Amino acid sequence: MNYCYECGTALIRKPLEKEGIIPYCPSCGCYRFPIFSTAVSMITLNPDQNKILLIRQYGKPSNILVAGYVNQGENAETAVAREIAEELGRQVTALHFNKSEYFARSNTLMLNYTCVIDSESLREVDPREIDHAQWFSFEEAPREIRPGSLAEQFLLYYLDTVNPAAL
Ligand SMILES: [Zn+2]
Repeated sequence: MNYCYECGTALIRKPLEKEGIIPYCPSCGCYRFPIFSTAVSMITLNPDQNKILLIRQYGKPSNILVAGYVNQGENAETAVAREIAEELGRQVTALHFNKSEYFARSNTLMLNYTCVIDSESLREVDPREIDHAQWFSFEEAPREIRPGSLAEQFLLYYLDTVNPAAL
């Protein structure tokens, strides 16, 4: 970031106590911390916690995880519950944070959670948001998820590192 996002003045680099050198706008008199979006992505489990839900979106043929942006003023856990309600029409009954990754292509910090939902039923899936939703076993899911995607990284981390019985 080279220019102030409020007034367009060239930023200078100024020390800030305990933070180091931070971009600073001399016109506004404000430090300008980097701006990025925050999103949540979910390893969505059925109530028996032995299947993972993968979805297809935006006309693409491969499977990804349920995900969505965090609204301003909303915490990440609320965003998970809201996205699950909006996209799947389901309730979250358990939630566990896994890990985060920065996704440069959309300037987004992705927070990955495991969430258990209240039913395997996919009758309430919103067809305007999701093209296709399907449950897969823990063996099938890594073969079915989009290769090379951040969703794949999160899924493999979950299967390799997070105790599937942790919830
Ligand atoms: Zn400014």
